[in-house]
Order: sequence, then structure tokens, then C-alpha cells
Amino acid sequence: MTISLLDSSPKFDLRFQLRGPQPVNDRIVLVYLSKEDWMGLSGEGRNLLHSLKDTAPQSDSFYWNPWVWERLMRTLLRAEPSAVAVSFFFPMGSIGLPFFDENLKALFDPRVMWAARLDNDGRAILPAFSANYGHNSGLIDFFADEDRTIRRFASPLVQIPHLAVRLAALFSHNAENGRLTWLAGETRIINFFGANDTFPSIRASDLIRNQAQALQLLKGRMVILGSRDLEGHLYVTPTGTLTRAELLANVTENILSNRWIYYPSIWILALYLLIIVALVVSILLIYPQAVAFVMTVWLSIGVAVLSFWSFDRFQTWLPLSAALGMVGVTYLLFLGYQLTQQENLNWRLEEEKRYIQEIEQLKNNFVSLFSHDLKTPIAKIQAICDRLMLAASPSPDVQNGLVALRRESSELHRYIQSILRVSRIESADFKINKEPSDVNELIFAVCQQLRPLADARHIRLDTNLEPIFAIEIDPTLIQEVILNLVENGIKYSPDKATVLISSREVGDQVIVTVTDTGPGIPTSEQSRIFEKFYRSPSQNSTKGSGLGLYLVKYFVELHGGRVFVRSHVSQGTRIGFALPLHEVEQTISQPKVFENERIASLDR
Ligand code: ADP
Repeated sequence: MTISLLDSSPKFDLRFQLRGPQPVNDRIVLVYLSKEDWMGLSGEGRNLLHSLKDTAPQSDSFYWNPWVWERLMRTLLRAEPSAVAVSFFFPMGSIGLPFFDENLKALFDPRVMWAARLDNDGRAILPAFSANYGHNSGLIDFFADEDRTIRRFASPLVQIPHLAVRLAALFSHNAENGRLTWLAGETRIINFFGANDTFPSIRASDLIRNQAQALQLLKGRMVILGSRDLEGHLYVTPTGTLTRAELLANVTENILSNRWIYYPSIWILALYLLIIVALVVSILLIYPQAVAFVMTVWLSIGVAVLSFWSFDRFQTWLPLSAALGMVGVTYLLFLGYQLTQQENLNWRLEEEKRYIQEIEQLKNNFVSLFSHDLKTPIAKIQAICDRLMLAASPSPDVQNGLVALRRESSELHRYIQSILRVSRIESADFKINKEPSDVNELIFAVCQQLRPLADARHIRLDTNLEPIFAIEIDPTLIQEVILNLVENGIKYSPDKATVLISSREVGDQVIVTVTDTGPGIPTSEQSRIFEKFYRSPSQNSTKGSGLGLYLVKYFVELHGGRVFVRSHVSQGTRIGFALPLHEVEQTISQPKVFENERIASLDR
């Protein structure tokens, strides 16, 4: 708004130049009178020229000779124009003495209009051929901006209207008694149709030579007589230097077709800028930053196009600099605001994360401390149980109780062991120690270890092991992984079932699978079984901590490997892992989110 308000004289000049010449109605024809024409007109003219000693004509008075004008007018009027406006100014009284003379009849013809001017006090100076209180005369004054360029047309508040208004009144439907009253006192921005010669023009000499074609051109038209070479007849305008006749023609055409440049009022301008602000803000609110930037650029292009288009099509000036400034300022301010908001949010999230991490740490510390402290009393309970069982043979009831107590306390001990292991691996100083190891050997060791457990329920442990090269792994961790998987296989299988452990090399991976014929895992749960503490709700009768598979996934991923599961309810489960044959660079991190991977080779 400030830009618009400060820019009191918006520069349309560039717009006019970019727009190029516009088509004009050919109801106006210009007739140019040159020094040579004047010479050719009469002896008087020639004499005058001689008296001026061939110097270039300086002012309109060079052409002052009523009798020559009479001849010229008679020739012109013979072509039957609707009006003839003379843009040369011959002030009354100052030169010669034109009293009404029968021989000067053509000069007072009602179709002929003579130029009048304003003096320094703003009073009209009537022309020498003024008749009927100036009814055949019109002002030819134009008011320039500070840079001496004519951009506006102001019809002064004097009794004599402007020559352009007089001419237009002849053709306009709005004219009352041949006069246009609405324009008096108003200032309009002239819609320039082009540079000189946009309006058709002919040389006066062609007329004098009575050229039929030239005379034909004037029939029924408005004729403006002017000069191309008199200095006072040249005006600087946005479309270049125009002659007075051309300028008069431009203004007349503006009045007739009402095609002035429309400059919106301050309120419409405010509304326009407000819409732009709203658009930029909504773009920034709806779209992500990068998209918003591109859209804002497009909006700026759109604003520029709209501005040029409205000027071209509707002669309406929509300020461009203010609009683009508005887009830029709104974008920057709002983006700044958004960034501050974003930063605020990030800071709060960061704080929350830190808080949650602290709580998690406290919880882990508590659990591990608690578990650690439980280890000793459990060991004592187990030792007492063992001692009591070996002591003097108790009754069967007591014996059974002791066995149950021993089993439960072992279970509790294992549970605590798992929790402590998780705490240890989640601590920052956990390291894996890799060495070349044979996976088949680890499987073999696990089978040895779990055979008593399997035998107790008459479960067969079958192996199908392909010879595999030693690979770089932490044997303790991978043995733990295999142990957990086989233990689950035994745990979830019915009595007398078979658990199959197989190993093979596929591509650049070593794949180990454990297959059982247990209850299977529902598809909906398959993606969750590797989560910490997750236990299937359907497996309540089986004891467990929900940490086994979490550790499996954690350890396998530490080695750059992947876990997978394929299971159908009441058909069994095939669960396993793939380790890369060659060492993969990895860091110790939290396990990645589990993806239910299906390895094509498993289906073979
Ligand atoms: P848990 O100590 O409960 O066995 P795990 O992490 O080893 O904990 O296993 C998580 C869950 O996955 C188990 O509660 C069980 O529901 C399911 N699960 C794991 N292995 C098998 C399997 N071989 N057959 C059926 N369900 C299994």
C-alpha cells in the first residue's frame, strides 16, 4: 500500500512500449502543413518566407496569413469533412486584424474549429478567427508531469472546452448541444494508441494538388491540421514524441471510445493486495516449503501476467511493483513465522524425546538393579531345594513340592537372566567379538544342550546341515540365537513331535531355519513376535518372557543379517535367519523395525 501511495505518478510508459501500437478508428485524419507546402500555397507565403530569410519556422505565427488559410480551408471543405480542427494557435489581436471579410468566409465556416490557449492566469485567449463567443474554438493546452511528459488529460474549468472535447462532441452520443459537459474539471490518464502516424495522415501539399485520393480520405472524417516541424507542436509522451495533431487525435479517440487508462481506487487496490496476501498465506499453510516456494514463484508470474493482461485488454492499471512486493514480503514474513513455529515444535519434541529417554533409562536401571538383586535369593532357594531333595527321603508330596519349587525358581532365574542380558546389550558399551566360526558346530552344540529338554517330551531333534565355510560371527551370540529358536520349537510343539534344524548356503548368505509342527503363529501376530516383551495372547499356558525373539532379531541384525518367519496356524512354524557370508560393516544400534520377509528360497 505504501509503495502504491507513494508512487503518485505510476509509470505506464513501459506498458505502452511493450503493448505496441493499437488499432484506431479511422474517423480522424491528420493533415500536416510543412514549410514547403506553405511556400507553394501562395505568393504571400513565399514573400513571408523570404522576409524570414529562409530561417526555420519557430512558432505558429510563421503560418499566419488569413488569405492563405482561406484558400486552404476552401480546398479542405470541398472534400466534405465533418469537422476541421486547426491545431495552430493565432491569438486574437496580437497578429494582424481579422475583421469579418466576405473573402474570408471559409475561416468562419461552422465546421472549422480554431485553437485557443490559456494564459498564465488560466484565462482563455481566443483565436483570431473566433466567432460567436468562441463557439468555433477549443483549447489546445496539455499539462505535463514533472518529467515534462504528457500522461494525463485535464479539461480546464473555463468556458471554452478543449479542442479534443469539441471534436469528440460532434460524434459522441453523450453530447448535449454539441458539448460534452462530463469531462470538465476531470483528469484522465490518456490511453496512447501508438507513436506518431498511428492515425492516418496526409500532406497538405497533396490536398492542394487536389489529389482525388487525398480528398476522398477526408470525406465525413474529422480533420486535424498540424505541423510536424514546429517545435511547439512536439510533446513528449510515453509512446515517444507526438505532434500536437497526433496527441489531439489520441485524446479525441479516448473520449469517443471511452478508453482511458483506468487506475483503481485505493480501496480496490487494498482489496487486490489483500487477496494476494491471502493467497500467499494459504499456499504456505497448505503446501510443504519447497512446493510453496515454486507456487509462490508461479503466483508472482501470474500477478505479472494479470497486470499486463488487464492493461492490454481492459486498460486497467494493476500496480505490479506493489503486488510483487506484497508477495515477497508476505512470503518472507510468513515463512519466518512458520520457521519459528517449527523450531518451537522441534524443540518441544526434542525435550520430550530426552525426557522419554531418561525415563526409559531409569526404568532399565531399575529393572536391571531389581533383577540383579533377585538373583542371589533365587540361587539360595535353588540350593536349599537341592539340599532338601538329597537329604533324608521326604514324603512323595514334599518331594513333588520340592521339584516344582526347583522348576519354578529355575524359570524365574532364566527370566531374570534374559532381562539382564537385554539391559546389557542395550547399554552403550556392548561389543560383539567376531571370529571365524562354523554355524553347523553351533547348531550341534545347541542340540546337545537341549536334548534333555526334548527327550523329556519325546520330541525328536532332526538336523539337515549342509557343509558351510566358517564365517565371521560372534559365536556366543549366534549360539544364543539358535538356542532361542530351537527352544521355542520344542516349547511350542506337541509331545512326540519333530523339530527340524537345517542350514545351507544360498548366494552370499548362510540360512538357518527351525521348523516345527506346533500351533503356528497367526499372520496378524507375525510382525509383532520380534518386539520386546511380546507374547502371543493364545500362548498363555506356555511360560516365557517375550524376550527370546527380540534378542534373536537384535543379534542377527548386529551381524548385518535378517530374520524371517513363515507360519500357518495349526500347521507349524518355520522361523530362521540369514547371515551374510562376507562381513558387513555395521554399527551397534537398536533393531530395525521388523519387516515380515519372505525369502523365496525358503519356499523351495
Ligand atoms: P517367549 O518367551 O514367549 O517364547 P519369544 O520372544 O521367544 O518369547 O516369542 C514370542 C512369541 O512368539 C511367543 O509368545 C509365541 O507366541 C510366539 N512364538 C515364538 N516361536 C513360536 C513357535 N515356534 N511356534 C508358535 N509360536 C511361537
